[in-house]
Amino acid sequence: MVNRCGFVAIVGRPNVGKSTLINAILGRKISIVTPKPQTTRHRILGIYTTNDSQIIFIDTPGLHRSATKTINRMMNRVAASALSDADLILFVSEATRWTAEDQDVLFKLKQSPIPIMALPNKIDKIHPKEELLSVLSAMSDRHTFDEVLPISAKLNDNLDRLIDLIPNYLPESPSLYPEEMLTDRNESFQIAELIREKLTLLLRQEVPYGLTVQIERMEKERKGININAVIWIERDSQKGIVIGKGGKVLKKIGRLARLELKERLNMPVHLDLWVKVKNNWSDNEKELMRLGYD
Ligand code: GDP
Ligand code: MG
Repeated sequence: MVNRCGFVAIVGRPNVGKSTLINAILGRKISIVTPKPQTTRHRILGIYTTNDSQIIFIDTPGLHRSATKTINRMMNRVAASALSDADLILFVSEATRWTAEDQDVLFKLKQSPIPIMALPNKIDKIHPKEELLSVLSAMSDRHTFDEVLPISAKLNDNLDRLIDLIPNYLPESPSLYPEEMLTDRNESFQIAELIREKLTLLLRQEVPYGLTVQIERMEKERKGININAVIWIERDSQKGIVIGKGGKVLKKIGRLARLELKERLNMPVHLDLWVKVKNNWSDNEKELMRLGYD
């Protein structure tokens, strides 16, 4: 039996459900999800192995229109390089609407020779169901895609079909990663991301975009795991917002993160969060590298 293995880039504007899709396929949160754009900042691999194939999904930051800061330019670069490495592109959009930003992304994709599957996502939001037909025909009018497959990443709708189709586009090759491996990111990265997810969910407006999380210390003991994390913010004025009155906001963030970590690591978790200022870290190439942005 031949084995197939290759890279599948998940591409689309921010907020269409790319990270939700990779998590649904792998059955675990390997890429954080929030209702806010710019949640995903890194290139994250999700590795799906069967007995005759290994699909290596690449979750990417959405392609941004305005790239004024270093971090935004970096995110666009990450998304673009994922494209050039891929054997197949999954172009994710929202079935309920088509925007100028979607059009921009598609325009870029059309210039690449890589096969493209269009995945109008969030079909659970379409009522009545007959409207799906016009969504599909509109999609086919925009480009001659290799496939057009409507999905709901949230409800796991049509994802089996997607997984069946993908290996047809992958080259014959031995698997590149061990079969039990789900992602290329280590535990400390995943923990930092989970804390950033809670921060992004709870903080309003522009604050989440100006912060990043760094794990300073992580020690496993018999009783559980001790984690020290620093929340880096860009300006002194944001400190009060992140900490909240009497530490209320930070406590809530810590509690939510700790509960999820406990479940995931299957052991008691002691989490210490510190808020520190590093002026304009997101616009500084050296700081970005130091904070783990590739
Ligand atoms: P990304 O920026 O493209 O990675 O998008 P996310 O995966 O972070 O999802 C953005 C928002 O869309 C989140 O609030 C998700 O819960 C929501 N979402 C993702 N997929 C679906 C879906 O199939 N149906 C619905 N109703 N919501 C979804
Ligand atoms: Mg994402």
